[in-house]
Amino acid sequence: MTEILLKNIIVAGAAKDILIRDRLISRIAPAGTVEPSPVCVVMDCSGKTAIPGFINMHTHSGMTLMKGVGEDMKFHDWLARIWKMESKIDPEYIYWATKAAAVEMIRTGTTLFNDQYWFVPTARQAMSEMGVRGAFSYVILDNGAPDKSGKDQLEECRALWEESRGWDDGSFFTVGIHAVYSVCEDNIRRAVEFAREHDLLIHMHLSETKKEVDDCMAAHGGMSPVEYMDSLGALDHRTIAAHTLWLSEKDVQILGERKVTCVHNINSNTKLASGYHFLYNELRDAGANLCIGTDGCASSNNLDMLEAMKTSAIVQKAWRWSPDALPLDELFDMGTVNGARALRENTGVLREGAVADINIVNTDSVFFLSDAPFLANLIYSAHSSCIESVIGAGRFLMRDYKINGEDEILRHSRNLIKRIR
Ligand SMILES: [Zn+2]
Repeated sequence: MTEILLKNIIVAGAAKDILIRDRLISRIAPAGTVEPSPVCVVMDCSGKTAIPGFINMHTHSGMTLMKGVGEDMKFHDWLARIWKMESKIDPEYIYWATKAAAVEMIRTGTTLFNDQYWFVPTARQAMSEMGVRGAFSYVILDNGAPDKSGKDQLEECRALWEESRGWDDGSFFTVGIHAVYSVCEDNIRRAVEFAREHDLLIHMHLSETKKEVDDCMAAHGGMSPVEYMDSLGALDHRTIAAHTLWLSEKDVQILGERKVTCVHNINSNTKLASGYHFLYNELRDAGANLCIGTDGCASSNNLDMLEAMKTSAIVQKAWRWSPDALPLDELFDMGTVNGARALRENTGVLREGAVADINIVNTDSVFFLSDAPFLANLIYSAHSSCIESVIGAGRFLMRDYKINGEDEILRHSRNLIKRIR
């Protein structure tokens, strides 16, 4: 059994001791009241603050070595460029790219993420070695062609799901439906049926660009991507829809009624010029579960959840001319506990019995001088370099800024970047 005691750490404004046993937060008690056992690793955290690990609700971790590819290109040209490059990737590439993603996630405080990419067993292995947990989807993607590849994809999906039942590191399997424009109707129906049969989460891109909406309406009798996916039974509380940026009032109503998780990926959306009018308030009021993602590094160039939170809020405030559009506590929930709810995981909060996913924040810096609320300093003033240690499922993933194996990961990654470009 591993035991960690974080002594004298600030939790929600008060000094506490946090005792971690195995994977869980076993106790949170007033500072100085928890006696460590002889096997306990004790860390003096005086002056530091504990926050939950972040949950990145939409990313493609294997794209972490594709930063800066197709900069300044239009969305569909950029996508074609990415797909060409993806034709060259193999398990070795995925292994190191995913490890590089893990390093970046850990440095920026992410302990759980929702992924959609290729070579899942390899990616899962890489993340598992780093201690970061993922919801990994098998991605159905047939470029809209109703051909024989369909059957194989569902068979592969089933095989991977079977394999995933042996995973014992806290990662789990989801069904990925790439998007309305890249998967044919028959495969969407079958993927939904498979997911429902086994009570699996569905992870998709939805209403990301105006072109996607226009094309969908032209191809499917005037139905928007949301209406179309709904007509195929793909939307409910187990659906995680990335982007949901171009929505009609009816779309908002459907997403709310179905309790869909909508993931805002502001850095990707703004950088690819897909749009920025994310309907946070409308979706929230309609009943949708709202989260934050970084998207893959090919579009957003990093996996930094604090940066994504800040940009989400300031853009939301700006386009609405409304500084109260996205309050800090709701913003923080989007990056933590709302993701846990979507993934059906007992984390995203610091409380006894929850999985011990904890970021230890060093507030002894100019960024935290202000007596403003802690979350204001954390999200608007500081950046992720304030995170000095990270605990994922009860073990140190980074301690005093040190991540095991980082040098080797950077070395392999540099070589692979040359190969893939
Ligand atoms: Zn994406």
